[in-house]
Amino acid sequence: MARDPDLARPSAAMLLILDLDETLIHAAKGPPPRPADFVVGAYSVWKRPHLDAFLTSCAGWATPAFWSSATDAYVRHVVDAILPAGLAPAFAWGRGRCTRRQDPETREDVLLKDLAKVRRRGFDLRRTLIVDDTPGKVARHYGNAVYVPPYFGDPDDDVLPRLADYLATLRDAADVRVLEKRGWLPAGRG
Ligand SMILES: [Mg+2]
Repeated sequence: MARDPDLARPSAAMLLILDLDETLIHAAKGPPPRPADFVVGAYSVWKRPHLDAFLTSCAGWATPAFWSSATDAYVRHVVDAILPAGLAPAFAWGRGRCTRRQDPETREDVLLKDLAKVRRRGFDLRRTLIVDDTPGKVARHYGNAVYVPPYFGDPDDDVLPRLADYLATLRDAADVRVLEKRGWLPAGRG
C-alpha cells in the first residue's frame, strides 16, 4: 500500500513559535532587584538563563518565530534585544495577531494565539510547535503546544537547556500533534 509521502518524510522545517514573557524573559516595572539585561520603556527585562544558547541551538534544526500577547511595539523591542546575531525569525507577532475572546466564567478578555493564522501563512501545523507558559493562550491547539513553567527572574533557572534537549527529540516528527508532550519536564519542576 502506498504511504502518504508527507507522513513518511518530514519535508518542511519545523516551525518553533516562542512566547516571550515568562517563557524567554521576565519584565517588571519599578526598582529592579538586580541589574536588568536590558530596558524596554518603563520595564526592566531579564533574559531567562541560557537564552542565547537556547535560541542558537533551536535555530540549528527549526525555524524560530515569536508570538506574544504583549503590544506589537514591545515585541519588536524585545525580539531585537534577544535575537542572536545572524538569526532571522519567520515572524515576530504581538497582540495585533491574537484573537480576543471573553472567558465565559470570569468575563475577562483573553488573548488567544490561533494557529489558523500561521497555517494561512503557508506553514504546516503538523510541523509547528508553540512554546508557552500559559496553556489557555494556545488552548485551541494543545497538540502543538509545549508548556513551560513560568520564569520570574530566578538566576538559577535551568529550564531552557532542558527544553532545548527535549525539543530536539521532536525534530523529525511527521506530525507533532499526535505526540504526548505533557510531562516533558520531570515532576517537581513546575
Ligand atoms: Mg507568557
